[in-house]
Amino acid sequence: MSGAAIRVAFQDHLSISGRKLLSRGRKGTAVSAASFLLDRKIILDRELLRDASELRRILIHELFHFVWRRIGNNRRAEWDHLLSEEQIAGAKGDLGWSAEWRRNELRAADLETKSVRWREFACETFCDTAAWFYSTRPHPEHTLQLRFRKPRRQWFRRLQGLAPLPL
Ligand SMILES: [Zn+2]
Repeated sequence: MSGAAIRVAFQDHLSISGRKLLSRGRKGTAVSAASFLLDRKIILDRELLRDASELRRILIHELFHFVWRRIGNNRRAEWDHLLSEEQIAGAKGDLGWSAEWRRNELRAADLETKSVRWREFACETFCDTAAWFYSTRPHPEHTLQLRFRKPRRQWFRRLQGLAPLPL
């Protein structure tokens, strides 16, 4: 599927229930978007069309799920290393709620064993950091302490140097 187009669609009132994405569902957790990596498809909540800045933030986050899948093990290991140092240094908050709530759920063993929970956290921080890196304004979900933002920015500058990024 390399190089195949990524399709973007809008649907009303998205939520996730179990592992399923629902539109206008009566249950589940409300979400703004979901990506289907193998189908190369992004579904966005139609509400986002009313807020250009939020649409940009969410769409960049979703696009970077595709980048994460293709940047290779070395880069993912580098990112993991950066996060491990942060975590050991006691970082709190993050650069998006998706990463932050996962950080809040982490236990020491997750870092040591690189559990599924840790790997999902790593992926979501990558996507939230991308959305922050390309943002033009502050957002209430940018809660990571300032001292931890600098290494993330430097890392993303290096990544950007590799452009075009693999999607
Ligand atoms: Zn995500």
